[in-house]
Amino acid sequence: MSPKATEMSNTSLDPEDWGEFRAKAHDLLEACLDRLEQARNLPWQPVPQDIRHSYVLPDKGAASDDLTTALRETVMPYNTGNTHPRFFGWVHGTGMAEGLLAEMVAATMNSNCGGRDHGMVYVERAVIDWTRRQMGFPDTASGVLVTGTSQATVIALSAARLRALGPEVRTTGQGAQRLTAYAGAGIHNAARKAIELLGIGSDNLRRIPQIDGQVDIAALKRRAAQDRADGAIPFALFGTAGSVDFGQFDDLNALADVAAEENLWLHVDGAFGAWTRLADAPWRALSEGIGRADSMACDFHKWMYVPYECGLVLIRNENEHRAAFAARPSYLEAMDTGLAGGDPWFCDYGIDLSRGPRALKVWSAIKAHGAEKLGKAITANCHAAAQMGALVSETQNMQLAAPVVSNLCVFTADASLDPETQSNLNMRIAQDLQNSGQAVFSTTWAQINGHKVTCLRAAITNHRTRPEDVQAAMDAVITERG
Ligand SMILES: *Cc1c(COP(=O)(O)O)cnc(C)c1O
Repeated sequence: MSPKATEMSNTSLDPEDWGEFRAKAHDLLEACLDRLEQARNLPWQPVPQDIRHSYVLPDKGAASDDLTTALRETVMPYNTGNTHPRFFGWVHGTGMAEGLLAEMVAATMNSNCGGRDHGMVYVERAVIDWTRRQMGFPDTASGVLVTGTSQATVIALSAARLRALGPEVRTTGQGAQRLTAYAGAGIHNAARKAIELLGIGSDNLRRIPQIDGQVDIAALKRRAAQDRADGAIPFALFGTAGSVDFGQFDDLNALADVAAEENLWLHVDGAFGAWTRLADAPWRALSEGIGRADSMACDFHKWMYVPYECGLVLIRNENEHRAAFAARPSYLEAMDTGLAGGDPWFCDYGIDLSRGPRALKVWSAIKAHGAEKLGKAITANCHAAAQMGALVSETQNMQLAAPVVSNLCVFTADASLDPETQSNLNMRIAQDLQNSGQAVFSTTWAQINGHKVTCLRAAITNHRTRPEDVQAAMDAVITERG
């Protein structure tokens, strides 16, 4: 039975009235711009019950249901709060106005960047190439934009495993061979997830003791030797450029030397800290040597302030990168010209076949601001963390959990209290300041005078933060402490 012509004619999802749609879109754009311009006055707020209920989706799109009103009034006000200048929680980037422009154009184009020959592929290559140069990777390196450092780590470690076990690992699997990887004890959980996902097993991720926040190289060598003697295959070494606990950096040159000696693939987690490459002295030196790694991961959505989400994996040797992922069935075969041209295709460098145009918001940010201005914002965040650290040191009974080396400051509001009372105080301060919209600190465990204490933690990846914001946030902590 064939459908009636009238039923067939009306299935397009385009607006029925473009004039009306256009007017509503203009209004919404104004509201978006208002919100960005007013970001300084709009802290996080909890989502009220009735608003949450209003998100429940109907079975039918109701004609009276005004999408743009819902977007503006029930969705837009309830963000993570990371657009506010006194948001220092976890490691959340701020976003920037250019992101709005890029996302608007990207949504209009709706490009699929898995491959083929079209503009966004060349935009992505330009972003990867720019970053490769900033990081000091050779021009034989390759990369692909991903959701974030978590996915980048999986991709990098897949290539590392292939080097250790040969290309057959893709078809035969790992069998009884036991791979071992090495990382400083403070390594981010993303490394563990990647090791687990690859079937290596997180018991085989050796957590090496650290000295002043850096991998103890002698301990690393001893552990690798012992693993070899026990029949394991040491294959990868994680370095950290910007640890999530205290913002510390491994000595990446020393790790590159030991990786070469021990025949280990060096992967650097530079999720945020890699961007100290753009900062002024002394912070720039923290990530010195990152360009010697076999692979690295970094995020644009943290310390490059680009809207969520976008990260990058860079791999020193393009052949090793492709060897771990390339596999195309015949329906995806490339042609010399036409839409199926444009080789190499990004689907051969990572997990995803269909891929969004993540590159455009990064490209727009860099095109608008350049390395120099972005670097100034990064440098300012390091100054802000140092300022916070100095205020902690000057305030009676406040105490740092670790020296401030980059953009992180972890401290307890009152070290004179017993560990449990201190922890409760710090947790209460964090919650009260979040709920009142004064400032967002997150919390983390750290050692204070030899005891495990829940501390206040600020990770400043926020281009809106000014010195007066740091002062106001710390004043609020002191008032809240009572
Ligand atoms: C955020 C972070 C990760 C994970 O990155 P995502 O972009 O959230 O996937 C890994 N390592 C460090 C040091 C981080 O700060």
